[in-house]
Amino acid sequence: IKYVYAFGEGGREMAGLLGGKGAGLAEMTRIGLPVPPGFTVTTEACRTFLTSGAEPPELAGQVSGALAGLERARGRALGAPDDPLLVSVRSGARFSMPGMMETILDIGLNDDSVTGLAKASGRERFAWDSYRRLVQMFGHTVMGVDGDLFQEAIAAHREKLSVAADQDLDVGELVALTDEFKEIIRRATGEEFPQDPAEQLHRAIRAVFDSWNGERARVYRHREHIPEDLGTAVNVQAMVFGNLGADSGTGVAFTRDPATGGRGVYGDYLPDAQGEDVVSGVRDAVPLAELKRLDPASYLELGDHLRTLENHYRDLCDVEFTVERGKLWILQTRVGKRTAQAAFRIARDLREEGRITADEALVRVDGDALTRLMFPRFDVRPDDVPLAKGVPASPGAAVGAVVFDSATAHRRAAAGEQVVLVRRETTPDDLPGMIAAQAVLTSRGGKTSHAAVVARGMGKVCVCGAESLTVDPVARRLTTATGVVVSEGDTVSVDGTAGTVHLGALPLTASDVGQALETREATGEVTAAVLDALAHADEVRRLEVRANADTPEDAVRARALGAEGIGLCRTEHMFLGERRALVEAMILARDDEARADALSALLPLQRNDFVGILAAMDGLPVTIRLLDPPLHEFLPDRTELAVRLATAVHPDPHDRALLAAVERMQEQNPMLGLRGVRLALAVPGLVAMQVRAIAEAVAQRRLDGGDPRAEIMIPLVGTVEELRLVRAETERVLGEVAAETGARLDLPIGTMIELPRAALTAGRIAEVADFFSFGTNDLTQTTWGLSRDDAEASFVPLYLDEGVFGTSPFETIDQEGVGRLVEIGVEAGRAANPRLETGVCGEHGGDPESVHFFHRAGLDYVSCSPFRIPAARLEAGRAAL
Ligand code: ADP
Ligand code: MG
Ligand code: MG
Repeated sequence: IKYVYAFGEGGREMAGLLGGKGAGLAEMTRIGLPVPPGFTVTTEACRTFLTSGAEPPELAGQVSGALAGLERARGRALGAPDDPLLVSVRSGARFSMPGMMETILDIGLNDDSVTGLAKASGRERFAWDSYRRLVQMFGHTVMGVDGDLFQEAIAAHREKLSVAADQDLDVGELVALTDEFKEIIRRATGEEFPQDPAEQLHRAIRAVFDSWNGERARVYRHREHIPEDLGTAVNVQAMVFGNLGADSGTGVAFTRDPATGGRGVYGDYLPDAQGEDVVSGVRDAVPLAELKRLDPASYLELGDHLRTLENHYRDLCDVEFTVERGKLWILQTRVGKRTAQAAFRIARDLREEGRITADEALVRVDGDALTRLMFPRFDVRPDDVPLAKGVPASPGAAVGAVVFDSATAHRRAAAGEQVVLVRRETTPDDLPGMIAAQAVLTSRGGKTSHAAVVARGMGKVCVCGAESLTVDPVARRLTTATGVVVSEGDTVSVDGTAGTVHLGALPLTASDVGQALETREATGEVTAAVLDALAHADEVRRLEVRANADTPEDAVRARALGAEGIGLCRTEHMFLGERRALVEAMILARDDEARADALSALLPLQRNDFVGILAAMDGLPVTIRLLDPPLHEFLPDRTELAVRLATAVHPDPHDRALLAAVERMQEQNPMLGLRGVRLALAVPGLVAMQVRAIAEAVAQRRLDGGDPRAEIMIPLVGTVEELRLVRAETERVLGEVAAETGARLDLPIGTMIELPRAALTAGRIAEVADFFSFGTNDLTQTTWGLSRDDAEASFVPLYLDEGVFGTSPFETIDQEGVGRLVEIGVEAGRAANPRLETGVCGEHGGDPESVHFFHRAGLDYVSCSPFRIPAARLEAGRAAL
């Protein structure tokens, strides 16, 4: 097996085998850029080493062969005493893992060759500085000596001479230091620093292999979802020196501005320095433009190479380069990382420049980036010190008065105030307060805590796990690590993008992108680019995108953001507020007559809600779900009631009746209890009232000249029998209203598929359903047998840490399990009823990865919260390519 490739033998298509860095070096060599020669040891060799504990037997011979070629090319031998060839040994995996693994420079130096290097370069100090760096790096990385020991030794020398920087150490000090470093190694390992260049090389390669399993690298891979078994390639490359004086230097350059996406090269340069110095920030670099002044020829040549690379890769590239005594060398290139706005802008510019197609431009952007651009941002100045830092759980910027409980949040928000809800952690009980607040701040919990997940779902700003804060809900105040006390009503600014909280109101910058998406008018380069990408996505996508919206305002907003209807209109929110009394009356009704009275009082209210929503979505489908949650959610809290009764001088008989009802309806597992279709069957008159309200609203909209497209959806069906019964009742009422109004009312009647049994018996259910809407939130809960609200606060974080979950199944659909049920449901449903329409209305409908899955599963539409619609449109387009 061939384990070693000279740079001239490879190319960019070999990134799997040569790693990203190796493939880039090979590609640049192939197209004639000035790359110091070298060779790459493949990831395959690394994998063999990692699994068997030993290098493949052929490897040593192949490395010697490649090294001999390198020595011939450079006309020098590795570590030769007179004029040595030195090499770097650089890690480079398939996916870029910046700074996560090891790179060792100046291999080949020893007690003899250091003198040779000094003579050949005419710079003694440079030679000894390189040697001491090698002993230090090799001692730490390869021989496992604690890096602090070297740092301390250098610090001692600096102190002795009272100088601030390593650069100020003279040759004598460096020679002494190198000796000390060798002694440190000897004491720590009982071994000598190896003088044999071949041994240095061999051990450095092995150390790079080992660094794949280093702690840092493992943590990084976990977070970035990079597979564990890829291994890294190793690049052995002739050294070039940017630290040979004023006519040398090193830098990083981008073919465009990676922050704004603006045209024109961009970068940093550090004269008289080696690569590591730029990255580690030990000295301040100067803008690339400075190179133009210092060395115009190298600057021009670099510009040529950058253009070549961008044309070649047809994307933003970044490069590491070094100038050695006026000669330019390119040391690395890759497709550059960029901000969200730069991603959109660059994609559009490249398309306009004719370098990529519209399809390719669409692939270059994504829904997450788009979502980030939709949030308003803070204008943070460097001297704004935050009160605390936590987990940036849900991006965006919010300002408000601090409140410490849900009820206060609700009350103050209802009075028109902007509030920030601060809790140690949130529970489902805090939901009203979270909805009312501008932002949620917690001192405990991570990215999958209740607060984080719910806030993200709602597009609400959230910082969680700000552990330095002490939250005291009783005293209604929080205390920071430095003792600052923030009391209820004080204003704070929450930056969900940075994960910080500031005292007072920071200035806000509205998101141009958010606005442009609603108005469909570009106001600048970035907004134009975003609208462009979406226009193309709309052209190519097959999936429709609808909104989850319960109010006319949400419906209007959703439509502006591109919703093609409402996939989920929940009716339970229409039962809250002042209407609660009517709902109570309905629940407490002793007989049919009392119940009928309560229901008929609710009827006109519901009808008006529907009229408003149907008007906002005129001409587009509106899927209205009949009442779903357990009834006790509309009743007061049991403990509160009991306390009120026990402490009242004259207990209110109404309270007593209420308490009895609450106790009667108490369930151990309400989410598995009397809810959904079961409610429709168990509460006489409820379905009739809701269906009548829908039907009358449709009739009225028609009278008003509108085009209402209501669809009736029955939740939590487990067996076709349930649906059959409720469908019959629904059709009966539709018929009644049709007869009364003369309107044609053949509204589609469908069901949610949110129980495994429903998915498994979808063929039967489809016989009486006009559409399926997969409720993937409940389907995830019922498939996994876990309660979202409880699990997210307890063991989901552990499962994520341990890698049991890659991502929370509530965020991204679990394709293997829950997704399989969706596939089964679609397939069986369509087989039984070819006209069956299918969609999804869980929060997954707005999650990029899930959208791709739903596309593949063949659904007709996804439905998500209004503010996620643009991202869903974009991803639906990308999925279709
Ligand atoms: P990373 O993947 O962490 O960026 P690199 O392998 O790119 O690590 O190496 C780190 C630094 O060392 C780079 O900035 C590069 O410029 C410098 N370097 C690597 N190889 C050489 C070489 N052959 N000659 C000069 N500098 C080098
Ligand atoms: Mg690098
Ligand atoms: Mg549900």
